[in-house]
Amino acid sequence: MKKFIAGNWKMNGALAANETLVKAILAGIGAASCDAAVCVPAPYLAQMQGLLAGSNLSLGAQDVSAHDAGAFTGEVSAVMLREFGVRHVIVGHSERRQYHEETDTVVAEKVRAALAADITPIVCVGESLAQRESGSTEEVVKRQLAVVIQANGLRISEIIIAYEPLWAIGTGKTASPEQAQQVHAVLRNQIKAATEHAARVRILYGGSMNAVNAAQLLAQPDIDGGLIGGASLKPADFLSIISAASVAA
Ligand code: PEP
Repeated sequence: MKKFIAGNWKMNGALAANETLVKAILAGIGAASCDAAVCVPAPYLAQMQGLLAGSNLSLGAQDVSAHDAGAFTGEVSAVMLREFGVRHVIVGHSERRQYHEETDTVVAEKVRAALAADITPIVCVGESLAQRESGSTEEVVKRQLAVVIQANGLRISEIIIAYEPLWAIGTGKTASPEQAQQVHAVLRNQIKAATEHAARVRILYGGSMNAVNAAQLLAQPDIDGGLIGGASLKPADFLSIISAASVAA
């Protein structure tokens, strides 16, 4: 299975800076043998649709409404995202769970909405530091994924999962390859129990992945790619991670 590297720009960007960043990535990406995407703030989707047209870098969004249409001020539907060429959407990022009170149920509904519009959801799960220290990491990630599995039935084989330990996001602290692999194996088994097509579900690692640590993480048997925050804003670093994923593919 090809590895997948997705950049999460979070709430960063500006028209001129986006163009410089994406042109630098496109200039260096060549014929990478992994799949790659950038998940950009919603107002820049049209700009990015233009800049990425015909390239091997696909376009992603960072959130989607659980609703299809109607009186939901401020929300953006999956069908709207699709109109701008969006192929992937991050769902249930820990920052949304934490600052916008997204529950496992809302996350599962957003996954359904994305799949219905033929957008691949990148479903984030992960434990806090306190949960890791109390030994409940596996229970937490399994509970988060179980709700998504239950709500999405057979279509579950079409999702991408991102394991993102909260204590590693934006902190510079990365899970060791062994720590990450251990959780990825748990998630893989959970998916295997839900679908006979588990082998096609990619499980990404996210949390301070960078140009230095990417190769070792991506060499683990159940790490199928990365969700990259900070390092995705630096073209040289993002390209190094893409190269590491191409080698590991
Ligand atoms: C993220 O936001 O999904 C993330 C992994 O961020 P960072 O790489 O900066 O830790």
